[in-house]
Amino acid sequence: MSPLPDYTVIMLGDIERVLISQYQIMGRIKEMAEQITREYASTNEITIVPILTGGMIFCADLIRQLPMKMKIGLMTVSSYPGASLATQGSQIIGKQLGDIRGRHILLVDDILDSGGTVRLVVPALKELGATTVKVCMLLRKDRPAAREVQCDYTGFEIPDEFVVGYGLDYNNYYRNLPDIVTLTSEAIEKMK
Ligand code: 5GP
Ligand code: MG
Repeated sequence: MSPLPDYTVIMLGDIERVLISQYQIMGRIKEMAEQITREYASTNEITIVPILTGGMIFCADLIRQLPMKMKIGLMTVSSYPGASLATQGSQIIGKQLGDIRGRHILLVDDILDSGGTVRLVVPALKELGATTVKVCMLLRKDRPAAREVQCDYTGFEIPDEFVVGYGLDYNNYYRNLPDIVTLTSEAIEKMK
């Protein structure tokens, strides 16, 4: 077998701590998918809306465990632009939803932090005519603001720390790490 290319080794060296492993994520997604499948059993058809870019990997894994009829719509929201370590306020910067009038929407995102994204996107989807909008988050930070927002499905509660991996980025890097991790301060400096 050929040795790992340098960039992989460099990325792994940037990890401070693994908070949630890819195996834990997979196990939890299976449970969440079972709950979602049960709760939507009497709903004819749904539209899944991943919030890009962070929600795309979670969404890709989740929907392959959902055996129901679905369409997919896309929404891009920016809240931690560039090398931000805290929210700069959420902004919808793109959408490709099709006609969602009368449809049942399941919003899928990576992490619930200040709640700004959910407070922005849920009313926007209702405004466009969605009949119901439910929220599914892989992570929820342990902070009061995150607990105040209505979230129908939550994967894991995590400490109020900056995390990357499994879709979450720092300056648009690290989304491809398979686990949820914290970064070393050297990595945060170097990848600015
Ligand atoms: P909220 O709008 O709830 O404050 O935050 C949601 C968005 O902020 C998430 O979808 C994600 O893009 C970004 N975000 C919040 N916390 C973190 C974090 O710890 N790490 C990363 N990489 N992004 C985060
Ligand atoms: Mg996001």
